[in-house]
Amino acid sequence: MQVLKFGGSSVGTTDAISKVIAIVKERVQRTPMIVVLSAMSGVTDQLILIGQAAAQGNDAYQTMIQNLAKKHEDAVLALLPNAQHANAINMVKQLIQEIESNCAMILNERAFTLQMQDCLMSYGEILSSKIISAAFEAEGVDQVWLDSRTMIKTNSSYSSAVVDKSLTNQTIQNYFANSSNQHALYLAPGFIASNAEGHTTTLGRGGSDYTGAIYAAAVQAEVLEIWTDVSGIMTADPRIVQNAKEIPKISYQEAMELSHFGAKIIYPPTILPVMRAHIPVWIKNTFEPAHPGTLIENESPKDSNTIRGISSIKDICLLSLEGAGMVAIPGFSKRLFDALAKKQISILLITQSSSEHSISLGVRVQDTHLAKIAVDAEFEHEINSQLLEPLIIEKDLSIIALVGAQMRNHPGVSGKMFGVLGRNGINVSAIVQGSSEKNITAVIAVQDVRKAINVLHEEFFETTYKQVNLYMAGAGNVGGKLIDQIKKQVLYLQSTLRLQINIVGIANSKKQLINVEGIDLSHWRDQLAAAPAGNIQEYVAAILENNLRNSIFVDVTAHATVADTYAQLLSKAVSVVACNKIACSSPYAHYAKLKSLARNYNAAFLFETNVGASLPIIGTLNDLIRSGDRVNKIEAVLSGTLNFVFNNYDGNTSFAKVVKQAQEAGYTEPDPRLDLGGTDVMRKVMILAREAGHPLEMESIENEAFLPASCFDGSVADFYDEMEKQEPHFKKLYDAAIAAGSKLKFVAKFEIDANGQGSAKVGLQHIQPNSDFYHLYGKDNLVLFYSDRYSELPMVIKGAGAGADVTASGVFADIIRAARA
Ligand code: ADP
Ligand code: ASP
Ligand code: MG
Repeated sequence: MQVLKFGGSSVGTTDAISKVIAIVKERVQRTPMIVVLSAMSGVTDQLILIGQAAAQGNDAYQTMIQNLAKKHEDAVLALLPNAQHANAINMVKQLIQEIESNCAMILNERAFTLQMQDCLMSYGEILSSKIISAAFEAEGVDQVWLDSRTMIKTNSSYSSAVVDKSLTNQTIQNYFANSSNQHALYLAPGFIASNAEGHTTTLGRGGSDYTGAIYAAAVQAEVLEIWTDVSGIMTADPRIVQNAKEIPKISYQEAMELSHFGAKIIYPPTILPVMRAHIPVWIKNTFEPAHPGTLIENESPKDSNTIRGISSIKDICLLSLEGAGMVAIPGFSKRLFDALAKKQISILLITQSSSEHSISLGVRVQDTHLAKIAVDAEFEHEINSQLLEPLIIEKDLSIIALVGAQMRNHPGVSGKMFGVLGRNGINVSAIVQGSSEKNITAVIAVQDVRKAINVLHEEFFETTYKQVNLYMAGAGNVGGKLIDQIKKQVLYLQSTLRLQINIVGIANSKKQLINVEGIDLSHWRDQLAAAPAGNIQEYVAAILENNLRNSIFVDVTAHATVADTYAQLLSKAVSVVACNKIACSSPYAHYAKLKSLARNYNAAFLFETNVGASLPIIGTLNDLIRSGDRVNKIEAVLSGTLNFVFNNYDGNTSFAKVVKQAQEAGYTEPDPRLDLGGTDVMRKVMILAREAGHPLEMESIENEAFLPASCFDGSVADFYDEMEKQEPHFKKLYDAAIAAGSKLKFVAKFEIDANGQGSAKVGLQHIQPNSDFYHLYGKDNLVLFYSDRYSELPMVIKGAGAGADVTASGVFADIIRAARA
């Protein structure tokens, strides 16, 4: 005998039911079968709503019953030949009438008891199984409808009745032992049973799987097959993890753990009866019958998978009982568990502090209120005598569980688990590792579940890629180039680094384009133009609300309002990559706070392009310091803009025009005075000093400015006019340098004195041909690091230090660094 169970989605539509019929018909010629059927999908929920409406005196329940009638009559018309329509429609009408008379009673009494709810819900399974039975009858198959209410006997815990195993086994075995009951096919409704008084009970939502297992164990079936809408048990709920993979084989124990911790694919009590009877279970897909699916059997496969799957239960509460007197209360745990058991509250997880001053229990949200009353009543005396505090309740929590029998042989699983959760800013409220080490569970906030499951899946299963979600602030010159560069590299990064870079947000100062699935980069400019308006705070709020894994905020603006959001982002573990220099050149205390937030929340805070665009200046400095070197002096030409200007100014074309050229080529800050006045160079040398460990402030940097003070008045346009007027001043600077056989360079210097104090200054200098700075062309930067290890000859870094393309590529490199952290 084989037992096949078809779930709600397998009998949800007439198309689906036809597939079920085909699967069964093909098999029934070879072997007798019990086929257990769920209600058509959605019907059980509908029946509950109907009962509730009737209890509230809401007439709408009648229309709802009519809809239900139509759904089932349509199934009859589609599945049965015309000749059988009348009989089958009659059968449906009769059952619908029974539903109506039950509802009339509920309406009259204005009460919808659990007993009545079970009775009403049972019609879902009765209708579907009777219609399918009629369809097989019409096909000429030797079949019979088996009333599970008479076969499966339970106690009277309506809505989740406990099966009387020996009585049930006996009843089923007696039935099949009777020679007048021999058929090729038995069609049985799932989910429903009855108590000693013969009242209908149900086995709990999703309980048809359990019905299948009960029949399989009782008849010693050679196999139990659970047919559903996915091709087996997957490494995670496919509705949460896009890339969840099918598990070919799994042990009973592992399947039990996964289902206990929320994997809806199997109703938790299902496994035990078939495990005891050593019956293999296959999970199969009605819509892809050729797919092998998952085999559940005794042994956990000896493959390389330490973790078999990840599951989660949303909406739990953590109940904590605390008190110094707990140790002294005799039979404390027994009393606590008994109090909850009496109310039929199932405990999903337990943690107890080793000092025995507190114990925490995870229960389902719907059980919380009852649990609080039960526990406070049980320990009333101890609470009144202040041995215990009243029960503390924490809400809006979820359980996530890593399951795998091999985990006990592999140290470091929990380290990996909590490391990845921490890096993603997911706070863990409680941790439990089963003593058999088949699972590790953690309690986290409900809003973090999707993210947690996805990052864990990536960490433990992803052989293809790690998804990184980018939110861009700024879509101008650098931003545009960056998006182009990313677009070109997506496939390369996937294949070489296993990174899937998704740009999920692009914002400029007016518009915000967000798509958590990833923005289609082929026409992002049009989409951004059509996107809703919003300010930076709204953008950040959306980032935090979306709570996507591996999120990176990329600031390619030069705005203070954008830089002001870093603290908020870092403290939610969102990494920040910035070419905006404002945050790192703000007062030292703020810079230091951002660095420590990044450390504390395991987020990256990277800003290589703050100095020398994509030249590896900050990264190299960090490497020197981290490896124990000490930087004693930095000399540098750090302004690509000023270098470009002084390399191109020869007194023939006006100084103002050369500056304009630099601006048009994208080498200047939006306000070029930041470059020409030396502020930008001051910021850069200050950032280098800070990264070298010296808490420098802007005010302490000496600036030998060369721009006349009048240039700083008015707008950028006024500035150009004023420079034209000041042309003789610039010409004079140039002539003096030529006369001295030198070139003009704007040089920054940072030096440590004998007391270990650092100081910095910037200014225009005459550079002689024997200097490293003399042969510096175009918009190049040059940095000389003098350190303990590079004491005589400095370490030299040289190359283009400005321009949208190189800046974008520097930001891109930081993004990859952040993604791989
Ligand atoms: P049925 O109606 O056949 O009983 P269910 O809806 O009860 O089906 O269970 C199947 C569903 O379980 C799948 O469609 C899937 O969305 C969900 N599910 C949750 N976790 C898992 C998992 N680990 N593997 C496969 N499916 C899962
Ligand atoms: N029809 C019931 C439910 O929806 C039982 C089942 O489908 O397994 O919960
Ligand atoms: Mg199910």
